[in-house]
Amino acid sequence: MSLQVDHLCKHYPTRSGALSVLRDVNLTLGPGEALVVMGPSGSGKSTLLHILGTLDTPTSGNVRLGGKDPFTLPERELADFRNRHVGFVFQDHHLLPQCSVLENVLIPTLAGSRDGQAESWARELLQRVGLSDRLDHRPAELSGGERQRVAIARALIRRPLLLLADEPTGNLDRRTAQGIGELLLAVYRQTNSILVVVTHSAELARQFPRRMEMADGTLQPEGARDEGRETRDEERITSLAPPPSSLAPPEKGAP
Ligand code: ADP
Ligand code: MG
Repeated sequence: MSLQVDHLCKHYPTRSGALSVLRDVNLTLGPGEALVVMGPSGSGKSTLLHILGTLDTPTSGNVRLGGKDPFTLPERELADFRNRHVGFVFQDHHLLPQCSVLENVLIPTLAGSRDGQAESWARELLQRVGLSDRLDHRPAELSGGERQRVAIARALIRRPLLLLADEPTGNLDRRTAQGIGELLLAVYRQTNSILVVVTHSAELARQFPRRMEMADGTLQPEGARDEGRETRDEERITSLAPPPSSLAPPEKGAP
């Protein structure tokens, strides 16, 4: 089952006219392939991910998963399709606070036909993400990284063809973020799904072999638009920092 995107466009109607966010996005990914999409805030990364996950509709162009255009399905079947074939990991984990870790992972299996294997698969996924000893915890009783691990297990519970992650490390510290990146890569390989991760973290992106950048409403090879942006960010951060002299201890004999 492959993901094929052809001439995808998305315009949002606004009071000041149509806002063109995606202009011509083309993409092909096969099973076991992963892509990271970078780009500045507002460039349309979430819009693209939502359309790939059928949470939003394109203005024009085509999305095919396994040769099938999901947007031709009636709404009810589209919801089934999404629940069955797409797993989402968001920046905010969206776990249900009143449910345990194990229950949260099982939530996507509650709709539709009951699968007797679901609970043992949930336990196995939670073991793979290193949370076997947290099954009865509530989300509030977990660290940020652990909550995101639960969200990844939940995204995988129905063995989706397509795993989509929108800024999955946006709320995590650097070390935890790296672990989540490694975990995403490991689990999608094990399940032979297609993984698309959106991030503005260069560190997370570096973990992925294939990287593209959202720019001017299209997907472009990384660095095609602006080779020097990383340096400029560093310069900007430096320019916001107080001058080093103000951090130095006062010299002996100074007033
Ligand atoms: P990113 O995830 O790259 O930060 P988004 O895909 O969220 O960017 O948004 C891209 C652009 O589309 C932004 O300028 C945003 O303001 C605009 N946008 C997003 N959703 C809507 C909407 N429902 N209606 C109008 N404009 C929208
Ligand atoms: Mg976004």
